[in-house]
Amino acid sequence: PIRVRIAPSPTGDPHVGTAYIGLLNYIYARQRGGKFILRIEDTDRTRFVASSEQMIFDALRWTGLTWDEGPDVGGPHGPYRQSERTEIYRQHADQLLANGTAYRCFCTAEELDAVRKQQLAAKLPPRYPGTCRYLTQEQIAANLASGKPFTVRLAVPTSGSTTFRDELRGNITFDHSNVDDQVLLKSDGFPTYHLANVVDDHLMEITDVIRAEEWISSTPKHVLLYKAFGWTEPRFWHMPLLRNIDKSKISKRKNPVSLVYYRESGYLPEALINFLGLMGGGMPADINNGTEKFTLAEMIEHFVFTNIRLGGPVFDLTKLKWLNGEYLRAMTPDAFFSAVRTRVFGDDYIRQISSLMQTRIETLSQFGDLTSFFFRDDVIPASEVFLPKKRTLEETLAFSADQLAALEASDWGHDAMESALKKLGEEKSWSVKENFMLLRAIVTGSTMSPPLLESLIIFGKARTLDRIRRFLE
Ligand code: ATP
Ligand code: GLU
Repeated sequence: PIRVRIAPSPTGDPHVGTAYIGLLNYIYARQRGGKFILRIEDTDRTRFVASSEQMIFDALRWTGLTWDEGPDVGGPHGPYRQSERTEIYRQHADQLLANGTAYRCFCTAEELDAVRKQQLAAKLPPRYPGTCRYLTQEQIAANLASGKPFTVRLAVPTSGSTTFRDELRGNITFDHSNVDDQVLLKSDGFPTYHLANVVDDHLMEITDVIRAEEWISSTPKHVLLYKAFGWTEPRFWHMPLLRNIDKSKISKRKNPVSLVYYRESGYLPEALINFLGLMGGGMPADINNGTEKFTLAEMIEHFVFTNIRLGGPVFDLTKLKWLNGEYLRAMTPDAFFSAVRTRVFGDDYIRQISSLMQTRIETLSQFGDLTSFFFRDDVIPASEVFLPKKRTLEETLAFSADQLAALEASDWGHDAMESALKKLGEEKSWSVKENFMLLRAIVTGSTMSPPLLESLIIFGKARTLDRIRRFLE
């Protein structure tokens, strides 16, 4: 039986790339009577964001994709959250130590840094020089006895190469001289992505790994791991990355990549899924008379994985908007009205905005005057604020955007936002007051608005960051 998975890491807002790869896995499973699994890869504690996991569940549910096994729905191969499986990884690392395909590395961070600096200076790729690979049993025992912390590294063969088959590309070969002795287990006992990913894909009986093409360079390490354990490897499908028109990869600095953004900006999940289904050319062009409009059920019926083109699908927001418009027009008037009622003028949203307005207007009809930016896709920033200061502006705004982007969803409140924005005054010589005015001009379009932070709280992180990003474009 076919079993596929997506394995997002809870490192921030749920990525549109996760929905794209999720969709492909979902279609693949549903076409073949297989299972689609959601696994949370949360072993990188430095990038871990607590609110992110729930946001991933919510955003994926919103897209209409459903999974058969996962942390929230359970299943026979759990737990599906890697932080609950650390003992499993440790045992597996021990197996590799015992059969000689991995070794303990006692090098300190300072030692590794020094090597990396030398390599950088000599324009060599960063590689672990193998210092600990040939320690004697006595040396290892002495290090362990003295309580030296260690990592576990994969012993990549010193010569030869690893070849694997990519279902879309054919055979891919990596020379071992280009594969680093990857850390598998960190000194805190947590596995790295590579070990946890391979162990779980095996234990969860994954038959096909369908993931983004940026993981191709990790695959030789994974194949070596499958061999080291004596396991058969799954099939690998590496999907072309979503790209901008200029062929650069879409990324959070340049594009709205958060699924929350699409939900809050009034995209319909059916339209977004349809659009993601168009990426890569797996859908035959003549479906539904070439309208490029199709449902998830139609994708399951017609999608052909081997037709996927590797050129790099263009994630063109203009086209997504057009498609979303098509879906809006296809609604019954009642359905459309109800979408406007709940998605644009939802009770909760209006209640929050009202609470800012009660003391600020004299007739109810003025309600719209100060609040229209809450209901608009975009605003024209009040130019008198930023025109005289263009020079420092980009740096300042990018700095603010980074500070705000780093806030967790649960921190999207007055105090955390204020102190994030105040850093600007501390770390850059730019007045906090001017910065507030600048943000106000960009997000609300006006120099007069309800209180800024309260407005941004209600407007939401995803759309706030998007207005800054658009301004910087
Ligand atoms: P960014 O480039 O926006 O900073 P990232 O790669 O740091 O993105 P992650 O949170 O690591 O973002 O990515 C989430 C998931 O989305 C990963 O599985 C990744 O492979 C996938 N992904 C990221 N960028 C793209 C893209 N341009 N096209 C398709 N999938 C992507
Ligand atoms: N945790 C990885 C990610 O963030 C999983 C990549 C894979 O599918 O192997 O996408």
